[in-house]
Amino acid sequence: MTDYSDSFINDDLYRQIIIDHYNRPHNHCRLPHASHSLEGENASCGDHIELDLLIENGIIKDVGFGGEGCSIFTASASILTDMIKGKTVSEAAELAKAFKARLSAHTNPKIAQTAEDIDLGELEALDGVRDYPVRIKCALLSWETLLQTIGPEPEEAEDESEI
Ligand code: ZN
Repeated sequence: MTDYSDSFINDDLYRQIIIDHYNRPHNHCRLPHASHSLEGENASCGDHIELDLLIENGIIKDVGFGGEGCSIFTASASILTDMIKGKTVSEAAELAKAFKARLSAHTNPKIAQTAEDIDLGELEALDGVRDYPVRIKCALLSWETLLQTIGPEPEEAEDESEI
């Protein structure tokens, strides 16, 4: 299965990470025992996610996702599940905010600086989307859905009206 949308990722290692996650997304299954579930949609690309979390005592014990989308969306959601499992809700929120900040570095350098000391791991493979606003939405859909699930902040609630 090919997908044109990763063609602008010009780093071979990063492209391989994205392709691997796209071909075999991690935790791509619904959780029957989820404590939190939320759907998210990126209409500009057609990406769709159903994010399931099992949260106990403030810790994300399990995570899974359903839905489909482009390679950028799928890789980002797959990496999300790897990274947040076992984290506290607030750690996961910090990670989501740091990733959002990194992708908005061009337009909002001040915000980006605040997130520099958080390790984004494989998410760095998605750096190439920063120049493509439509693709930024693909990369952020799962993370926006996560933030809405575990407790949106006022400024994130406002973002919804743009979509
Ligand atoms: Zn997409």
